[in-house]
Amino acid sequence: MKAGQEIKKLRNYFKRGNTFIAYLVGKKNSGKGTYAKMFAEIVGPQYIEHFSIGDMIRRVDEELKDKKKKKELFVFLEKNYRGKFSIKEILSLLAKRNTSAPLLPTELILTLIEREIAEKKKKTLFIDGFPRDLDQMNFTLFFRNLIGYREDDDIFILFNVPEKVIDERMKYRRVCPRCHTSRNLKLLPTSKLGYDQKKKEFYLLCDNPNCQEVKMLPKEGDEKGIKSIRARLMKADQLINQAASLYGIPKVYLKNSVPKSLASKLVDNYELTPEYSYKWNGKEVKIIEKPWVFPDDEGKPSYSLLAAAVVLSLIKQTTKVLNL
Ligand SMILES: [Zn+2]
Repeated sequence: MKAGQEIKKLRNYFKRGNTFIAYLVGKKNSGKGTYAKMFAEIVGPQYIEHFSIGDMIRRVDEELKDKKKKKELFVFLEKNYRGKFSIKEILSLLAKRNTSAPLLPTELILTLIEREIAEKKKKTLFIDGFPRDLDQMNFTLFFRNLIGYREDDDIFILFNVPEKVIDERMKYRRVCPRCHTSRNLKLLPTSKLGYDQKKKEFYLLCDNPNCQEVKMLPKEGDEKGIKSIRARLMKADQLINQAASLYGIPKVYLKNSVPKSLASKLVDNYELTPEYSYKWNGKEVKIIEKPWVFPDDEGKPSYSLLAAAVVLSLIKQTTKVLNL
């Protein structure tokens, strides 16, 4: 309803065989992946790929466990990798590292991205996790040439998410031990809840029919909220500011909060994120829903926007920067 024209234009653009590259730049837990996937679902999932560098590295980890694939990777790197480490050093870097990728050299990341993209049919890419730091920003400017997207538009998509939102997303996150679905006790509960009478605590039960209402659990370390990721948040801020200052590459700015005082002018009530609290009446859990109000980074009382409302802005701005 709100973006019918723009969605039509984007679909036609993709149907005509056009593609573009978008770099998602934002803080951890800012919802980048969710927004990109939703955008794809709306305008045409067959034309768009959410390309996560973290996922790519995890696929490489799998290859390393398989003798034959490890050998193939070795041969590929020998032929294609140029940089300051030997292939042996690279393989040991990959093997030693645990799930996070920050220590892998940029030359290696670029070679691996090139390999994956060359194997696939050409699609519009939403790149998540590159650039990851200031040193990689300059590579980004030439990236489309590297992967054979020379004629394509490229776009920075910059996310502004108040720290309070990230903090509460972490603190109240609950994860299913079986299917690993992630929800939020305060902001995104499941349809079924339980109450622990001894601990006086409410908990979520997984909705997935395969999980038989298993209790969802907090992730270790999440209870500290953003305190534990302060350095990463600051680095992300620097990265966003640098991307915003670059000439020649269009930008889309997304903000997922709106000051309370402006909300009635800018958004509809159904676009606001509710918060949930619970009461135990001795028999069942009562759910109380109201709009979530929190201080944004400037201390202004604000609402948070639901993902669909942010994606609406993404659709409109993307149409604009592509001159459709
Ligand atoms: Zn589950």
